[in-house]
Parts: sequence; structure tokens; C-alpha cells
Amino acid sequence: MRYDVAIVGAGPAGAATAIHLARGGQHVALVDRATFPRDKPCAEYLSPAAEPLLAQLGIGDLLDAARPHRLRGFRIFAPNGRTFQGDFAATRAPDGASLFETGLVIPRSRLDAAILMGARRAGAEAREGWRLGQMERLDDGDWRLHPVGAASEPIEARLLVAADGLHSTVARRLGLHVVSHMRKIALVAHMRGIAGVGAYGEMHVAGRRYVGVAPLEPPERGGLCNVAMVVDEARDGRSLAGKPEAFLLDALQTFPALRGRLDSLVVERHTLAVSRLSVRARRLSDAHLLLVGDATGYYDPFTGEGIYRALFGAGLASEVALPALAANDLSAARLAAYDRAHQRAFRGKRLIEQIIQTAVQYPPLMDHIARTLGRHKAMADTIVAVTGDFLPASAVLRPGYLLRLVV
Ligand SMILES: Cc1cc2nc3c(=O)[nH]c(=O)nc-3n(C[C@H](O)[C@H](O)[C@H](O)COP(=O)(O)OP(=O)(O)OC[C@H]3O[C@@H](n4cnc5c(N)ncnc54)[C@H](O)[C@@H]3O)c2cc1C
Repeated sequence: MRYDVAIVGAGPAGAATAIHLARGGQHVALVDRATFPRDKPCAEYLSPAAEPLLAQLGIGDLLDAARPHRLRGFRIFAPNGRTFQGDFAATRAPDGASLFETGLVIPRSRLDAAILMGARRAGAEAREGWRLGQMERLDDGDWRLHPVGAASEPIEARLLVAADGLHSTVARRLGLHVVSHMRKIALVAHMRGIAGVGAYGEMHVAGRRYVGVAPLEPPERGGLCNVAMVVDEARDGRSLAGKPEAFLLDALQTFPALRGRLDSLVVERHTLAVSRLSVRARRLSDAHLLLVGDATGYYDPFTGEGIYRALFGAGLASEVALPALAANDLSAARLAAYDRAHQRAFRGKRLIEQIIQTAVQYPPLMDHIARTLGRHKAMADTIVAVTGDFLPASAVLRPGYLLRLVV
């Protein structure tokens, strides 16, 4: 079958790109090895600025049906027990109104199925259970993609969009991915019975590990939470091998501000694990090729904005791809405009992620930052707004802010 665009991976990045391109009149094939609804190791929190991007996809009704839980902000707990809280609503526009009041928490099984449904509604042809096998470049630069197994026909397309996630097959085959020296493993479960969780997400840091607790429903509806822990592979890799859930339950007890709240803990969904979390792509485009979402690289889940980045990046990719497809110019030079736009959009945020990662690795620094932000609520609100994607990174990357934070 021949298409204008073939998108490999129907997570948020691929499905959102499919919606934009199908709405722009392109004949789009969207393929995924999984059958939806499927789980994905993720803390399942959407930064406030992701909600308008989902609304632009025209899936507001599907999102409501997915029953998101609303968070008012985050509480961070440092290794020595110091804590600070940032509220989304505290950041205001010049007219005094809050820019955003809440972020969302939604199981990925529901969120991703909703965006995929949106892609089908927009006219994309979606195929589930379709795993990418061989990739061929045709003489004119177009692509022929073969599925693993002989069950379905190959797909040909003018433009290939790699949206196949963190360990992207497309990026690896084309030699575009560089795996970082920072080796982390994430363990993610759904649990009930964590006392005192409600309208705020929590991040606990201790002993170079951290864990996020994000409520998927209010306590009165059962209090189901997403619990996502990130650990060092060198330190913890051996102890968790073969028994991630037992390790996770033990390790939860090492976080001082969680320890006393776990008496009624019940695990609801088996623990998902993922390693090699930090990956960088050498470039995000080439002739007849664009990378979106985690296929463009990923750093660390602490600030949890990958879904926003996937949705925003899908918009950027489509803004470059639609005129390029119309002009029949899919050259590397033309599509490089996407690399530049992506860099501009995310460079500052990446720097903040690296600063936060440094603090996680050095407990005294994290303790100190928590003490400062615990005393200066406006600074805490600002960093929560920046990580919530609705204040620019420059609000934190100012000498005044950084000096007050660490000195
Ligand atoms: C532990 C952890 C916690 C996180 N928490 C958060 C959070 O709270 N909030 C947040 O915003 N972000 C979070 N992230 C990041 C977020 O999960 C990702 O950024 C987001 O899923 C990226 O979307 P995507 O569409 O690029 O990739 P994915 O959602 O991974 O989708 C890729 C799709 O490609 C398919 N695929 C892969 N290979 C093939 C193949 N060969 N053939 C066909 N299909 C293929 C897969 O089946 C999958 O459906 C977290 C990440 C981790 C690891």
C-alpha cells in the first residue's frame, strides 16, 4: 500500500502527528507493534500545558471519558525530610488570573487509546500488532517498510515519521541514537493505600533514588496511585533483577516521608520495568525522515514532561512536514527546519532537567535546595510552573534565581 506518510509508533507522539497530518489532507498510515489499550512504563502525569494541546487534537470528549484526576501542584521531599510545595494556580498572568490551575493524571492505557482513536477519526489508517521489520530506501528517497511476519503487506511512503519511543528501532537502524553513560532503571506500579495522597503529586528523593507518587483517583474513589521509582543501574540493578516488585516494595520503605504511610498498601497492577532511560538523537531529521517524541531522545523522568514534549513536537513536525509534502520537497535541508524549531523549544528545559539530576545525585545539594524553596514559596511555584511547561525555562535560568537557589 502507498501512503504520503508512514508513522511507526502510535503512542502520543505518533498518534498526535497522525492527527495533524491527516487533517492537513495527507494519506497517513500509523502502525504499532502493540494492540491498544496497552500499558507503558510512565508516571502518567500530564503537565498543565499538555491539556490545551490535547484539546487541539479534537479529543476533548475522549479525554473526559478517560476520567483524568486533577493535581493542584507538587510536593517535593528531600533526603533529610525537608519539603516544599509548588502550586500551579499561584503563577498568574498580568491581569491576575491563574495561567493554569491543574495538571492531569491518566492511565496511559486510556490516554494513548484516546489519542489513537482521535487519529482514526481524523482519517489516519491505523494498524495495531504491526511490528517494523526491514526498512528499505527506494531510489527516489521514499521508504518501503516491511512488517515482521508475512501477515500484512509492506507499506510505502514519501515521508517516514519515527515515533517508536525511547529505544526507537528506526533511529537505531539508522545509527541516530547515542545511549548516555547515565544508566538508570525505572519501576512503575499502580498501588492503593498510600495514606495522605490527594490533590498533589509527590516526589521523594533519598539515597540517589527517587520515587514519584501520582494519584489516579481521589481517596474517596479508592485512592489508586501511580508509583514510579528511578534507581541507579550500577547500585540497584543486581538486587532488583528477577524481582522488581519485591525490590520496589522494600525500597519504598527507605523514603523517610513515605515510610509511615504504607501500612495498607495493596499492589493493583504488576510492576513494569524499563532501563536505559537516557538517550540522545544525533539529529531529528534527514531526507524523507522525521523523529518525534522519545525517538528524539529522553533524559530522565523526574520532571515528567515527555508527553507534553511528544505532543508539542508532533505539532512542530507537522508544521514543517505539511508544506514540504505539498511542495514535494522532502530534502534533508528542508526538513532540518524541524531540528532547529525543536532545539529552540526544548533547550532550556533540558538544562533544567540536568540541574535537577545533579541535585538528585548529591543529597546535600537537594537538601539545601529544598530548604530554600521551602522558605521562598514564590520560587517553588516558579520551578513547578517551568516544569509544568507553562513558564519558559528562562524564569529559572536567571542568575538571580539560580544564585538564591544554591547560595
Ligand atoms: C519511568 C518513566 C516515567 C515517566 N513519567 C512521565 C510522566 O509522568 N509524564 C510525562 O509527560 N512523561 C513521562 N515519561 C515520559 C513519557 O512516557 C514519554 O515521553 C512518552 O511516552 C513519549 O511518547 P512517544 O509517543 O514518543 O513514545 P511511546 O509512548 O513509548 O510510544 C512508542 C510506541 O511505538 C511502538 N513501537 C516501538 N517499536 C516499534 C516497532 N519496532 N514497530 C512498531 N511499533 C513500535 C510502541 O509499541 C509504542 O506504542 C516517563 C517515562 C518513564 C520511562
